[in-house]
This record gives sequence, structure tokens and C-alpha cells, in this order.
Amino acid sequence: MTTSLPAADRPTAADPSVAAKNLLDEVEAALLDRRELISDAQAYALADLAPVARNDDELLARMLDLAHRVRLAWCGDTVSLESILSTKTGGCPEDCAFCSQSSAFTTPVKPQPYLSRDEVVRAAADAQASGATEFCLVLAIKGPDDKAMAHILEAAAAIQDETELEVAVSAGLLTNEQARTIAAAGVVRYNHNLEAAESFFPTICTTHAWRERWDTCRSVKAAGMELCSGGILGLGETPRQRAELALSLRALEPTEVPVNFLNPRPGTPLQRAPLLTPREALHGVALFRLIVPFAMLRYAGGREVVLGDLQAAGILGGANGLIVGNYLTTLGRSTGEDLRMLRDLEVPVKALTGLL
Ligand code: SF4
Repeated sequence: MTTSLPAADRPTAADPSVAAKNLLDEVEAALLDRRELISDAQAYALADLAPVARNDDELLARMLDLAHRVRLAWCGDTVSLESILSTKTGGCPEDCAFCSQSSAFTTPVKPQPYLSRDEVVRAAADAQASGATEFCLVLAIKGPDDKAMAHILEAAAAIQDETELEVAVSAGLLTNEQARTIAAAGVVRYNHNLEAAESFFPTICTTHAWRERWDTCRSVKAAGMELCSGGILGLGETPRQRAELALSLRALEPTEVPVNFLNPRPGTPLQRAPLLTPREALHGVALFRLIVPFAMLRYAGGREVVLGDLQAAGILGGANGLIVGNYLTTLGRSTGEDLRMLRDLEVPVKALTGLL
């Protein structure tokens, strides 16, 4: 004899956990069985799971497991490590509310002059000696003026003359012509983050528009460079705005998507912003992976402070890259600790691939 639950006790699709399970089944079928991108509606529905995932261990575990399997299927099993070097720090005229390099705020980061050609070459040679294959010049500027362009072109030529490294650049907003000039100088990849959803961006920056960032990303692609573009989670945006950002990034077809978590910096308008909870951060990583399955998803700034001991969960929940060592204005944990974590997870590590 079979027994059945009284109708009132039977789970229905209106039950949030049943609806969530159905959604994850649909997303899995799209990404793994049919190898298709998910729809915008599915992306926003996944974002809507953020509050459920806060209390439902099983749901969060299922979403992270799916994101991990999608990463393996679309990107392979290796995790890549990169580190960052800034060749022009601080003194940026823009007012991005999270950034301690802005001259609009009084922060402990003091403007530094450009590194000289010799200093850049020395840093690049050190990077090459430690196994790097790529070197990224990072400049804290709105976009290059003539002086910055001259620095970029000189430094790129010097690195190519003196080392075997590929050159990447992160130097803010570009015109089409600047993008073409930088590409013609042999720069293979350009980093420019969208930072936040278009609907949220005016809340965190008043000195330039989200569209300018978008246009720069388009110029980078049109000039034939690889695009590295991501954002910061925990600026006060809603989970739906995280999905909006990830959908915009997906439309740009980036090679790499850095995912940062806000680590509130003293002196900035967001200095007292609450940290994301580890669960929200992990939900965010999985969300990005399910929306942008094809790109390298690189854990970047803020992971230590937001995730603490749970950083490994993101590597098993969709991320397949780490920025190691120190970030532009904050200290990271040691590369040795990250390597230990990856060894414990038995995740194959690509050699340190570059300075980003
Ligand atoms: S443009 Fe870049 S360096 Fe300048 S304030 Fe904004 S995030 Fe910071």
C-alpha cells in the first residue's frame, strides 16, 4: 500500500525550494546538456535565490556544485594564478566610491610617479624569473593622456625587447584610436572593469558614465585585444544588479572576468559599508559562473576579508583563477597559502601566468 501526503503538505512549484530546484535543473540542462547560455529571465531568477541561499545549505551547495561542473565542462580543470603590479599609483581624478586611489578622498594611498623604464623592466624580469608569461602594466588614471600613452608604449616596447613576456595593460578609458595604438604596440590584453551594473553605477561614480566603460571594452575588442573585465560585489547593489552586471559582461565576450568583493577602504565613502556575508559572496561567484560560463572567472580583491576560510568553496563553486599576492592597494595573503589551498583541493594549477 502506498501512502501519500495530504494535498496541503505536498511540495508544489510555488514552494520556494521546489521552484529553486526546478530552476537549477533547467539551468543545468541548458549549460551542460545543450551547452547553451542561460536566458536573462533564468539569470535574474538565479539572482533571486540569494536570500534563499542564505538559509538553505542544500540549495547553496547545489548551486555551487552546478557552477563547479559548468566550469569544468566549459573551461577545464586548471586554475590560473596571476599577480598585480601598479606602475602608476594613486592621484586618480575620478570619484569611484570604493577606490582609495581617487584624489577625491583623503586616503592613506599617496600618489606615486610613473615607474621608470628600468623599474618596469626589472619588475618584468623578476616576473619572468618566477615563471610568469605575461606582465600587465596597471595605471590608476581615468584614461591615458599623451604622457600616459608615451609611458605605456615605452614600457610595452621595453618589456618586449628585454623579456619573453606578453604585455597586458590596465589604464582606464580608451578612445578607439588609443585602443588601436596600444594593440599595434603588441599589447595582447586590456583590463577594464565595468565595476557595477549600469543601473547602479551612478550611485558609486559621478565623474564618468558606465557607458564610457562599456565603450572602452568595445574598443578593446574591436582593436583585436583580449578583454579582461569584471566588477566588485558588495557595493550596496542588489543580487539582481549582480545578474545585470554579469549579463552585460557576457555580452562583451571577455576572456577573463575578475570578481572582486568590497573591502571597505579608510577615507572612501564606502569605508563603513558592511561586508558581504560569505554565503552571499559564494552565491555571487556561482551566479557569475552560470551566467558567463565561458570566461576565466578570477577571484580578485577582497576574498580574504569576505570569505576567510571559505575561499576554497569558491574554487569548487565556479572560480578558476586567483589573483595572488598583494592587490593594488591592499595586502593579500601569501601565495604559499593559496598554493597550499589548491594542493589540498587537488586542483591542477597552471604555472603563474602573469603579472596582471
Ligand atoms: S577610475 Fe579607477 S583608479 Fe580612478 S578612482 Fe575609479 S577605480 Fe580608482
